[in-house]
Order: sequence, then structure tokens, then C-alpha cells
Amino acid sequence: VNDTKTALVTGANKGIGLAIAHGLGSIGFTVAVGARDENNREKAVEELRAAGIDAFGVALDVTSEDSVAVAAKSIERLDVLVNNAGIGGQLDGGAQDPTTLDLDVVRTVLDTNVFGVVRVTNAMLPLLREAESPRIVNMSSNMGSLKLRSGPVLAAYAPSKTMLNSITVQYARVLADTNVIINAGCPGYVATDFNGYAGTRTPEQGAAIAVKLATLPDDGPRGGFFDDAGEIPW
Ligand code: NDP
Repeated sequence: VNDTKTALVTGANKGIGLAIAHGLGSIGFTVAVGARDENNREKAVEELRAAGIDAFGVALDVTSEDSVAVAAKSIERLDVLVNNAGIGGQLDGGAQDPTTLDLDVVRTVLDTNVFGVVRVTNAMLPLLREAESPRIVNMSSNMGSLKLRSGPVLAAYAPSKTMLNSITVQYARVLADTNVIINAGCPGYVATDFNGYAGTRTPEQGAAIAVKLATLPDDGPRGGFFDDAGEIPW
């Protein structure tokens, strides 16, 4: 019997996702590197292996039903799912001013940041339910907090994370009587491609909350929204 836990991280080829893969791998998880681009995926797998981590690549485009279904079939064991893949949509020059918003930008952002999470989660849940202490982490953002209203006006991106938070709560309610623990996390403002490296935190710092939520004890919180400092207001 192989008792090494396996974690799938979506969008694990770079940025915070790659740092989450490093973080989980370094504490003993086998890491499934979910990424859509083959070259970038294999580069990330090589980098993780060079760091002594047991990693393998999984072709995964979260916007594609087929890709997600094939990915689920290729994985034998799953203890942790980190839904990290996400996009900002057009971020430049008022492109997400709600008064002039191109709805196609909203559709695109929701398809990845929200529907992508539902697609992947539902495809992976049968595997997760087989695990002893399964955990699901949804990488959200404090920009999705209705209370904080932080960051610039981004009428596609911010509501996508608000909806992701809400969906996380819906999942937690349905999974309340199971051993599957699901929470949302915010990495803080992290220097990645996402923001042209304007972020002030390192990917490792951004990954910490995901690693923590992925390794919660069996009596840990469910359906919450957290960053390094604790609970974030909805
Ligand atoms: P990056 O842009 O550096 O990385 C995003 C990752 O998501 C890439 O691996 C990208 O793959 C992947 N991805 C995007 N679309 C898809 C798709 N359809 N299928 C599979 N993978 C996809 O961003 P970050 O690392 O900064 O962000 C990671 C998460 O953290 C996101 O959900 C983001 O919203 C969230 N976040 C980030 C913050 C920050 O300050 N950076 C702050 C708050 C939240 P590819 O390389 O192929 O494009």
C-alpha cells in the first residue's frame, strides 16, 4: 500500500501554484502538476524533481470539460486539490470599469475562476472521497471581499472571487457530514506574471496559506475564507 498523499495543484507551472507545489512536495506530498501548456508543465515537473520532490505532470485546462475528465481518469489517488488556476482578465487602463465593461471579459474570467473550479472539483470529488483526510483549497482573493472593497476597480475579476467564495460555502454545506474539508484562501499581493511582478510578497509567502489549508487537521474549519493573519471578512 502506498501511503504517500497526492496533491493536485491547478495552474502549477508558475507563480503561486508552482510555489504551492514546492510547499506541499517539501512536506512529503506527491504533487500532480496541473497545467495546460506541455512545455511549461514539464519544466515545472523537472524543477520540482530537482528539488527532491515526487512530481508528475497532468495536462489540465480548467475551461475544458474533456481536459478535466481525462485528467481525473489519469490520477489514481487524490488527497488534496488546490484550485489555484486563475486569470485577471484585461487589467489595463480601466478595462474593468463596470460602466463600460465588455461582458466577454466577464464570461472569460468566470469560466476560469469559477466554472473551472466547479468543473475540476466535481471531477476530482470521487477520488477525494476515497481519501482519509481530503482537503480542497480554493485560491481566492481579498479583492472578492464585499466588506473590504480592496484593490482597484475590477468588475470582472473581483466578483469572480466573490462568487468563488460563495461557491466554497455551498460546497462546505453539502460536504459538512463528510471528511472533505473545503476552504478559500487569499495569498496576499504576490509578485507574479499576474500583476507584472508588482506584488510585494514572494510566491512562497503567497503559497503558505494554501499549504496550511491543505493540511488542516480533521477538526479544522470548513467553508471559511483565510489569509496568513486569520479569517477574512466576506
Ligand atoms: P499567474 O498568472 O502567475 O499564474 C496563473 C496560473 O493559472 C498559471 O499557471 C496559468 O497557466 C494558470 N491558468 C490560467 N488559466 C488556466 C486554465 N484555463 N487552465 C489551467 N491553468 C490555467 O498568477 P498567480 O500565481 O499570481 O495567481 C494564482 C492564483 O492566486 C489565481 O487564482 C489568482 O487569482 C490568485 N491571487 C493572486 C494574487 C497575486 O497578487 N498574484 C492575489 C490574490 C489572488 P498558464 O501559464 O498556462 O497561463
